[in-house]
Amino acid sequence: MDQTTRSGPRGPHGLREILAAGERTYSFEFFPAKDEAGEHALWAAIRRVEAVAPTFVSVTYGAGGSSRDRTIGTTERIATQTTLRPVAHLTAVGHSTAELQAILRRYADVGIRDVLALRGDPPGNPNGAWEPHPQGLRYAAELVRLVKEFGAFSVGVAAFPERHPRSTDWDDDIRHFTAKCRAGADYAVTQMFFEAEHYLRLRDRLAAAGCDTPVIPEIMPATDVRQIARFAELSGATFPPRLAERLAAARGDRAEAHRIGVDHATRLADRLLREGAPGLHFITLNRSTAALEIHRNLGLDRLSAERGADRPLTGSLGGR
Ligand code: FAD
Repeated sequence: MDQTTRSGPRGPHGLREILAAGERTYSFEFFPAKDEAGEHALWAAIRRVEAVAPTFVSVTYGAGGSSRDRTIGTTERIATQTTLRPVAHLTAVGHSTAELQAILRRYADVGIRDVLALRGDPPGNPNGAWEPHPQGLRYAAELVRLVKEFGAFSVGVAAFPERHPRSTDWDDDIRHFTAKCRAGADYAVTQMFFEAEHYLRLRDRLAAAGCDTPVIPEIMPATDVRQIARFAELSGATFPPRLAERLAAARGDRAEAHRIGVDHATRLADRLLREGAPGLHFITLNRSTAALEIHRNLGLDRLSAERGADRPLTGSLGGR
């Protein structure tokens, strides 16, 4: 089969069609580099990831001006200068509807077919009060509608295995999540989490609410306890005390901390796949080493090689 008729690196369809066909997605997330050295490291990581032919890669959308331009520039460059499928993160923060439409036009013009539609957090203080742009959008569901009306894109949204930190309770959280799905979201990617049960409980809650939108779990290799504790605090994710203890005991031994973090994330990812997760989305922090190690531990590099050699996909949901 011609590689252009299937997923990874890039085919004619959006992720909607790929997931609807029962194919699992394997993907990697980057953030916009701040300077030239960062740009160099980012592109070295992107090229390493390209070699394993993931289903898609994504670049997070910056909180303001120059970092947003770098997100858009990097996403466009991935679309035009690599074989990778870019999923463009886009947030409603500080943008009028007309500005959001102009960004979508740019993405469509370079052949991008996938957008992750997010509300974003208040700039400066993620826990501050949320104020929409006066000519903009209030919630992600409205951005989903805008992107869908624009046409041309498959749309993903954010999901929160430990619920969004601002949701008053689970009913509130699930109601607002399912509103994004009714608005047209084709799939969701989760916030980071470190124990499978959080994902499985969210899956059960969504099933009970009659929502069958595929929810792709995000995998964060916890190789640096201080950094991860800060991320976990910002995202509302619980950091398991046992993992924190093991990492704390390895303080000063970076190789051991790396091994512990990769081992934990590999076990988590393996369990999620065995439980039927529709894919895995790896956070790379623009380094890719740990994420690619987990990918390899799971045997997914062999899957990539099979794809390249055009053999049947063993990673499909049907093959579970
Ligand atoms: P929404 O779905 O709008 O939800 C935000 C809050 O509002 C929730 O508490 C929800 O319950 C509530 N809510 C929703 N609708 C209503 C309603 N009608 N009435 C009342 N309350 C409502 N941030 C970035 O800045 N850049 C990124 O690139 C980025 N990428 C991300 C990728 C992933 C996979 C994830 C999980 C998060 C990402 N974020 C990013 C963070 C995200 O923008 C924040 O978590 C933000 O606070 C919530 O975004 P959302 O799209 O889920 O918003």
